[in-house]
Amino acid sequence: MPQLLVQIGGETLPLRSCHWVLFGPNGCAYASEYGDGATGPEEAHRNFTPRQRDRDRETRQGYHVELLSKKQWRKQAGPCFYRTCTHTPVQQEVVSR
Ligand SMILES: [Zn+2]
Repeated sequence: MPQLLVQIGGETLPLRSCHWVLFGPNGCAYASEYGDGATGPEEAHRNFTPRQRDRDRETRQGYHVELLSKKQWRKQAGPCFYRTCTHTPVQQEVVSR
């Protein structure tokens, strides 16, 4: 299988060296997987959030999936996974009966 290449920030990189990241509306990274785990943001989102209902809710709330290079990952997502970021936590949706 030929190696898939992607362009990020002016660099051409093998997809498998990149990371799909699920960002919340606050800019905080919530999930991450290797670039070759999905061929597009929709597929990556399905991997992170298997249920359609949950995905729709996340999209409504402003969650989105981005492909990051390793360099970007370290800067934009790393601190979130190491719990050293300064993002404000997302307020959970209140479920009322
Ligand atoms: Zn964060």
